[in-house]
This record gives sequence, structure tokens and C-alpha cells, in this order.
Amino acid sequence: MSNLIDSHCHLTYEPLKSGVKKIIQDCKEANIDTLLSIGTTYLNSKESLDLANEYNNIYTSIGIHPHEVDEDFKNFELLKNLVCEKKVIAIGETGLDFFYNHSTKNGQITSFEKHIEFARNKKLPLIVHTRNADHDTLEIFKNAANVREAAKIVPIEKILIETDSPYLAPEPMRGKVNTPKNIIYIAECLAKIKEMSLNNFSITIQKNFNKFFFNENFNNFTF
Ligand SMILES: [Zn+2]
Repeated sequence: MSNLIDSHCHLTYEPLKSGVKKIIQDCKEANIDTLLSIGTTYLNSKESLDLANEYNNIYTSIGIHPHEVDEDFKNFELLKNLVCEKKVIAIGETGLDFFYNHSTKNGQITSFEKHIEFARNKKLPLIVHTRNADHDTLEIFKNAANVREAAKIVPIEKILIETDSPYLAPEPMRGKVNTPKNIIYIAECLAKIKEMSLNNFSITIQKNFNKFFFNENFNNFTF
């Protein structure tokens, strides 16, 4: 079976953080060979970068999550300094969350716009979190498509898969701690929808990941 990639997990968040060595080892044994650990504040991005520097197969993004903007946007200039590091392959996660509203709406919008500008300047992909804010998110992107509709019909070459672990575990692991190892359930489910063998699906996802994060860096966005 071809290797799988989790393109969005929070390895520096508990309960993953304290067992991270074993989690990474378990992933390797399960053929999940590449993990993209996501930064959510300046310090968390730094921590994620430190982890990425320890392991060949781990990469990181750097960003300030919409939930953290009110507290942490003051550190955006510091965060920018991390971008020259080799293991930083994306900006985010940024975006808008008007469901929880942990940060003010205006603060989130300003931060999102700054992250977009930064990603464009550095020609790096942007990792976007959006909740109850599809309209505003797309307004900012100046893109007419509806995200949810697009997700249903999106071509296989445009798909990446993620666990967002340790948050919400996918079926059939609901209620348990989510880890990057659960990427297999996402892969199985999507391979079925796309009527592909799991192996072909995995190969395609790997190609997409490499193209997206390592070759083709302008105007790329993930949700
Ligand atoms: Zn996330």
C-alpha cells in the first residue's frame, strides 16, 4: 500500500504532545509517512517547528488561529521571522470563525488579510479554517464558489486529506482521542466516494501534497 499523508494535525497539542514519539512511530508503522503539524500562535508555531526539525518526515505551518487573534496577533511580526526555516511549508492556520467568536470579528478579518498577504509574498500555501463564515471567507478571496458545494465535486487532483487531530475523531473512532493514524479512515471513505482503490487514492494524494507544498506555490489554499 502506498504511503498516506496527514496534511493537518496539531502534534503540539495535548494529548498528542506528551506521546508524540510513539504517535510518530505508530504512524510510520501504519505507512503514514508525512505529517504536517499546524501552528496556531507564535509560540505554538515555534514549538511545531522545533518538532519538525527533529523528524525528517514532519513539516510545519506557521500562523495565528482565528481563535487566538485577540491574544496573539501582536506577535505577527515575530511569527514572520520563522518563515525562512526550511521545514516551514505553509502559512496558517488562519481564517474566520464566527461560530465560537473567541476573537473579535474585525480582529479575525485583519489577521486573515495579513496572513493572505504574507503567504502571497512568500509564495507559500495558505491553510484556512472557516466556520460559520463561508460568505466572509469567500468575500475575502473574491471567489464566487460555495465551499461546501465545491467540496462535493472537487476533482481528485485538488484533494488533500487531514485529521485535524487531536480534535474530533472520524467515524468509526468517534469519542476517542484523534491521532494522525486515523487518516486511514478518511482515505478509505474518500477513496470509496471517488471509486478508486485505496492504493491509487493514496498515490494521488501523495502527488497532490508534493505538488501543492513543494512545487507549485502561488495562489494555493486549503480549507
Ligand atoms: Zn486545525
